[in-house]
Amino acid sequence: MNFAEFYQRSIDTPEQFWRDEATLIDWNIPHTQVLDYSRPPFAKWFVGGRTNLCHNAVDRWCATQGDKAALIAISTETNTEKTYSFNELQSEVERCAAIMLALGVGRGDRVLIYMPMIAEAAFAMLACARIGAIHSVVFGGFAANSLASRIDDAKPALIVSADAGSRNGKAIPYKHLLDAAIELSNAKPAKVLLVDRGLAPMALVAGRDVDYATLRAVHLDARVPVTWLESNEASYILYTSGTTGKPKGVQRDVGGYAVALASSMKYNFCAKAGETFFATSDIGWVVGHSYIVYGPLIAGMASIMYEGLPVCPDAGIWWSIVEKYKVTRMFSAPTAIRVLRKQPPEFMRKYDLSSLRALYLAGEPLDETTSQWIAGELGVPIIDNYWQTETGWPILSIAKGVEDRPTRLGSPGVAMYGYKVKLLNESTGEECGANEKGVLVIDGPLPPGCMQTVYGDDRRFVDTYWSTFAGRQVYSTFDWGVRDADGYYFILGRTDDVINVAGHRLGTREIEESISSHANVSEVAVVGVEDKLKGQVAIAFAIVKHAEQIATAEGRQALEREIMGVVDRQLGAVARPARVYFVPQLPKTRSGKLLRRSIQAICEGRNPGDLTAIEDPASLQQIKSALQV
Ligand code: ATP
Ligand code: MG
Repeated sequence: MNFAEFYQRSIDTPEQFWRDEATLIDWNIPHTQVLDYSRPPFAKWFVGGRTNLCHNAVDRWCATQGDKAALIAISTETNTEKTYSFNELQSEVERCAAIMLALGVGRGDRVLIYMPMIAEAAFAMLACARIGAIHSVVFGGFAANSLASRIDDAKPALIVSADAGSRNGKAIPYKHLLDAAIELSNAKPAKVLLVDRGLAPMALVAGRDVDYATLRAVHLDARVPVTWLESNEASYILYTSGTTGKPKGVQRDVGGYAVALASSMKYNFCAKAGETFFATSDIGWVVGHSYIVYGPLIAGMASIMYEGLPVCPDAGIWWSIVEKYKVTRMFSAPTAIRVLRKQPPEFMRKYDLSSLRALYLAGEPLDETTSQWIAGELGVPIIDNYWQTETGWPILSIAKGVEDRPTRLGSPGVAMYGYKVKLLNESTGEECGANEKGVLVIDGPLPPGCMQTVYGDDRRFVDTYWSTFAGRQVYSTFDWGVRDADGYYFILGRTDDVINVAGHRLGTREIEESISSHANVSEVAVVGVEDKLKGQVAIAFAIVKHAEQIATAEGRQALEREIMGVVDRQLGAVARPARVYFVPQLPKTRSGKLLRRSIQAICEGRNPGDLTAIEDPASLQQIKSALQV
């Protein structure tokens, strides 16, 4: 098939296009209308249709491949590994659903899931989907304050949690955080369901807290039929990472999401039922929702759920999993690949990776160096894909399942079917031509699977996302991009990551890409810092590959000069960073996104802001120390 034609059909005749795609999933009652866009920008897909995410992910496959692997839960933290067949998964989900029903959870009620990467977290998500409860997964280990604000926003009837997560072999107790969060919140849940992993002591609050294992035993033989939901009922709420500000509760539907996932599994991930998918993300993020839990299962694939670090017990762990479970499609983030690049390559060469067909990367810009390195090591296509919590599935990528088009280094690819992607000039709002920088926007209606609204706040949905350009209602991604003459997009960073040096507007991302091409740089962050003379100057913080070079002051200076030279040659002296500092790590969110704003604040002597999503607070201290040297 020709992708250009395929794409054009999705844009010219969206209703026919998505009517066809809707047949990829099971419906209890077919829809009466493909799209209702009578109240833009609110789009309703498959109106009147009744379906269920859990049915499509689990029950549907029990009939044809009930004994095949569905969920493979691996923890290198607790050294446990367990495979659940579709039949077993169905039983576990029904038990969990029965527990929820017994605890008084009903259709439309919210269930907050604050869990580590254990199988019960997936059971809980699927159980909610089964009974029509709306789940809101909150990344495990978030501090009490961030948890409390999400509790207040979602007002859950039930919270599902565990005694502890684990990181690098150390238990991270959850229960006291949870208790503190509930204490802080105004919307207290009636019940708290707790999985006891035996990792940390846990005191149950009488009348509120209940034990998962005990109730599971009570409901061991429970049969809970699926609740058929109208396509536009809410399936879940997921808060954005909060890289740029207060997290927004992204609300998703049922039918549109199921169809979008089924389509993207087919066209983007070339899914084959019976094969194994491995997404290394976390269920607390959108990738975990779409491509650990729902997407692979809807496609009849086994999905690996991994708790642990990419380098423990050693840097070969992921590749040993690929070999053992014959993973065909793997999904990760550039940040993880950069971590692996710092390790000796022997670890990946030890394993038979012949089952692997492609590696998908998303979440942040994929620099060319990292992309080329991993492509060379794995010998499979590396497929970048650009999207957001808000969209639920890729906006830009290469749909190898439609046409085997080549990828282009540095580009996540072309606009995906259903997305009317455009670049608009920030000041005039005019559409950009080839190679012209603009804000990446999407014309409504957003395709199936994208957010319906901000939970409980339609106004905020319109004001935040659809009101950037006066007199024109378009969805803004708040990312800068440029498109080449062949329709390939390049993401140049977030609209608030642009710096202004003596009147020149520069994307910090471009400067980072340039610095990354230096052989001794494994990672870099560039921020704009206030400067009396020039308005702003670029400051770079780099992690080196070989530390010997920065052991002495002369070495550091030499490397700094080399790096400045690279930027001079590639982008011009105007983009040259005023300083390059060397740090052992960079402040990132737990989903691997650089906290440029916090770095910038520190450079300007301001408070680094809300840091609840930060991976390692020590990284901020390291920035401070580097500045003092
Ligand atoms: P918040 O919106 O709360 O600030 P966030 O934007 O970090 O949080 P996500 O929805 O997880 O939360 O991230 C989406 C963003 O990540 C995109 O808007 C883009 O900036 C970046 N991104 C994702 N994938 C890619 C990619 N393949 N290439 C470049 N950037 C990417
Ligand atoms: Mg965002």
